[in-house]
Amino acid sequence: MTYVIAEPCIDVKDRACVDVCPVDCIHEVGRMLVIDPEECIDCGACEPECPVEAIFPEDALPQKWQEFTPINAAYLEGADAVDSLVASYCERNELPAIEGQR
Ligand code: SF4
Ligand code: SF4
Repeated sequence: MTYVIAEPCIDVKDRACVDVCPVDCIHEVGRMLVIDPEECIDCGACEPECPVEAIFPEDALPQKWQEFTPINAAYLEGADAVDSLVASYCERNELPAIEGQR
């Protein structure tokens, strides 16, 4: 299992989670941060740090955000893979890119 970052992180990215991760497996990619599922040791330290409650254990991810499991896992294929899944998610869920942020 791994931890997963979901929609609330998009365009927020305050990075509080990054500071507490003991294995540095949380990475900024475009409009959000994602957790490398191969490096995450499932310690849970990041979850309470997130001010917008974007972080969940994979098995407790709300149904409406299920596609963030593959979005985080796409980190293993590179930043472009994450970016295109996030862009597709944002388009379908009407989360327009903030002008000048990308
Ligand atoms: S659960 Fe632990 S290892 Fe995994 S991303 Fe969070 S802080 Fe890092
Ligand atoms: S603390 Fe939450 S909002 Fe901030 S970067 Fe981490 S997951 Fe994103």
